[in-house]
Amino acid sequence: MRDTVTPTHCPYCALQCGMNLTPAPDGRAVEVSERVDFPVNRGALCGKGRTAPAVLSSSVRLTSPLVRSEGGALVPASWEEALARVAEGLGRTRAEYGADAVGVFGGGGLTNEKAYSLGKFARVVLGTSQIDYNGRFCMSSAAAAGGRAFGLDRGLPFPLEDIPRTGCVILVGSNPAETMPPSLRYFTELRENGGTLIVVDPRRTKTAEQADLHLAPRPGTDLALALGLLHLIVAEGRTDEAYIRERTSGWEETRAAAMAHWPEYVERITGVPVPELREVVRMFCEPEAAMVLTARGPEQQSKGTDTVGAWINLCLATGRAGRPLSGYGCLTGQGNGQGGREHGQKADQLPGYRKLTDPVARAHVAEVWGVDPDSLPGPGRSAYELLDALGTDIRSLLLMGSNPVVSAPRAAHVEERIRSLDFLAVCDVVLSETAVLADVVLPVTQWAEETGTTTNLEGRVLLRRRAITPPEGVRSDLEVMHELAARLGGGRNLEKGFPTDPEEVFEELRRASAGGPADYSGITYRRLAEENGVFWPCPADGPPAAGGTGTGPRSVGGGGHAARGAAELDDPTRAGGTGRLDTADGAPAPGVHPGTPRLFHDRFATEDGRARFAPVSHRAVAEEPDDEYPVLLTTGRVVAQYQSGAQTRRVDELNAAAPGPFVELHPRLAERLGAAEGEPVAVVSRRGRAVAPARITTAIRPDTVFMPFHWAGEGRANTLTNPALDPVSRMPEFKACAVRLEAVEAGRPAPSSP
Ligand code: SF4
Repeated sequence: MRDTVTPTHCPYCALQCGMNLTPAPDGRAVEVSERVDFPVNRGALCGKGRTAPAVLSSSVRLTSPLVRSEGGALVPASWEEALARVAEGLGRTRAEYGADAVGVFGGGGLTNEKAYSLGKFARVVLGTSQIDYNGRFCMSSAAAAGGRAFGLDRGLPFPLEDIPRTGCVILVGSNPAETMPPSLRYFTELRENGGTLIVVDPRRTKTAEQADLHLAPRPGTDLALALGLLHLIVAEGRTDEAYIRERTSGWEETRAAAMAHWPEYVERITGVPVPELREVVRMFCEPEAAMVLTARGPEQQSKGTDTVGAWINLCLATGRAGRPLSGYGCLTGQGNGQGGREHGQKADQLPGYRKLTDPVARAHVAEVWGVDPDSLPGPGRSAYELLDALGTDIRSLLLMGSNPVVSAPRAAHVEERIRSLDFLAVCDVVLSETAVLADVVLPVTQWAEETGTTTNLEGRVLLRRRAITPPEGVRSDLEVMHELAARLGGGRNLEKGFPTDPEEVFEELRRASAGGPADYSGITYRRLAEENGVFWPCPADGPPAAGGTGTGPRSVGGGGHAARGAAELDDPTRAGGTGRLDTADGAPAPGVHPGTPRLFHDRFATEDGRARFAPVSHRAVAEEPDDEYPVLLTTGRVVAQYQSGAQTRRVDELNAAAPGPFVELHPRLAERLGAAEGEPVAVVSRRGRAVAPARITTAIRPDTVFMPFHWAGEGRANTLTNPALDPVSRMPEFKACAVRLEAVEAGRPAPSSP
C-alpha cells in the first residue's frame, strides 16, 4: 500500500479527467479528491468518476480465476490451472482449425500498453488475423471520415481549450451534459464569450437545453441536414473560394451533390424547417471562426462515414479547418477510444496507426517484434462481423475489457453466437454478462491498481498511475499475456516479447510507432508525469525545422484567418501542459519535440497537403419504419451509467440515480399506446423484444423512442438494434432502427437490472 496522494485519471470516458487518489486506512479503498492542475477538467468530476473507487472494493469483485466444472458451473481455480486451460483451449482450436479459428476481442478502455500487447499477442503468439475491439462501435465512422478528408484521424485536432474562443460550435449527435459533464463548461464559456452553440439531436437533451438553437431531425437524416446546409451556404455565397482553391480538392463534385438537396427537400427528409436551416447557416458563417463536433449520433449509422464527411464538408467549404479556432472534431466516447485504435487491436492496423496492408509498415513493426514480416497475418473481420462468426469460422475467443452481450448490436444473436463457441476465455474485474458464459474467467487488475497510458479525445497522451496494491488473487492483463505467450509459444520463449512492466511495454510501443501517423516515439513516462500529458504526433527527433514537419500537422498559419483570439494561438504547441519543455526564452528545449496540440494549420496530412471533400448524397437508414414497425428507435447513454454498465452497475450511488432501463416516448405516442408514466412498455424490432418502463416527455420527437443501452436482461436495448454496417468503417447502425410499441399487461413489475 502507498500512503501518498497519487495524481491520476478517471477509468471511464474519453475526457480522462484528472483526479487525486489517497489510499484509505484499510489499504484497499482509495478516496478521490480534486486535481486542479489537470487543465481538461480543472478538478471537476462527474458522479461516475467520483464513485469509481467503489468498483475497486466491490463485493462482487473477482479475486480468483474461475473455470467451468464438469457439472457446468464456474468454480474457483488456481492461476496455474486457469492459464493452462486457456492455453489448451486456444491451442487446440489453432491446431484443429487453423490460427484464424481463434478470435481476440479487445476494448476501448484498455490502456495503450494493453491494446498494443493484445494486437501483438494475436498476430505473433496466436498468428490470427481475427482481432478487433468494441471501439469499432464507438467512433470508427468519424475515424474513417477524418482519415479520408484530412489524411489523419485524431478525435480533436485541437485542444478543448480552443472551444470557448471560437465563434460558433455545431454539436451533432452529442450530449456531453450526460456523457462527459465536466466538458460542458467549454460550451458554457463559449456562450459567455459571445459565441453560439447549435445542437443537432432528435431529443431535447440537457445539452440541447443550453443551446442557442436546437435542431431535432429524424434519426438517421443528419446527412441530408448537412447537405441542405451546404446547399444554402453555396446559394447565399458564403463559401471561402480562396481557401477551397488553395487547400482542398473535390469541391465541384461535392458542390453538385449539395445543390441537388434543396432546403425544402431537406425539410421533408429531416423535419427541420427551412428557416432553422437558414439560421444555422447565418450563425455558423458570420463569425470568423467556427467548429463542427460530432459524436455517436451521426457516426453510429450504416452511412456514418458519409454523414460525418458531409459535416466536414461544411468546414471545408467555409474555410473552417486547419485554421486557428476552427475545425472539425469528434468527441470520442470510451476512456481510451483514441489510443485503443492507434496501436494494433483494430482488425486492419498496426501500432502507430499504421496500415496492416502497407508493406513498409509491416516491415517496420516486424523488425521491432523480431519476426518475419511475412508471418504477420493480414486484416481480419470488423467487430460485429467477428462476433457474428463465433461458433462457425471462429471456434475460440479470448476477450479482454469488453462485454458484448450487452454492448453489441443484435445482442441476443451475439449472445447465442458466444454460447456456441468451443472455448471462451474472459479477462475482467467482475463477472459481466459475457464473463458468465466463459469457460475460464481471469480476474485482472483495474485502473488504480496498475500503471499505464491512455490517450484522451484531444490526442493528449496521459499517465494513469498505480495508487494502491491490487487485491490478492488478481493479475494484470499484461501478466496474463506474458503467461499465455509462454504456454502457447511452443518452446520459442515468446513470453520475452510480452513484458509485464507497463513502462517496458511503452518503450517498445514508442519504437513501433516511430515514423507512423500516431508517432509516440518522443513521449516517455517521465515526460507524461512532468507535463500533464503530451499530444501526438511527437517524434523522438526533436522539433521540426521552421515551416512544418512535412506532413505539417504542428505548424499554424496558412490562410491568414483573423479569428478571435487567434494571435495567442500562433504557437501551435501551446496547450494545457506545464510548459516544462520550454527554455527560459520560451523556445522548446533543443532536441525535444513539444508534441502537437493543433493539427493541419499549414497543410493537411494527405499526400498533396489538401483536404478532400466527400461528394456524398442522402440515403435512408437501413431499416425505414413501415406499417409493421412504424417508429424509430434510437439509443444512447445516461449520466449515471457507463457503456455496458459492467462497472457502474456495481456502484450503489449510481444505481440509485439510474436504476434501470426506460423507454422515452412522446405523449402523443404514449396516448396512442395507452402507456402511462412508469408502466412497462414493450419495444419490438425484427431482432427481438425489450420491456422497460415508459418515460413520457415532450423532449423527444413523436415518431421516435429512445432507450439507454447500459442494461442486460429484459430491458436490453441492444436486443433491438440493427447490425447494418457502414461500408467503410464497418460500424453498426445503433442510432436508428424500426420498432413497434406494444402495451404490457397492467400491474406487471417494470424490469430493472443493476
Ligand atoms: Fe470525467 Fe468522464 Fe470520468 Fe466523468 S466519466 S469523471 S466525465 S472522465
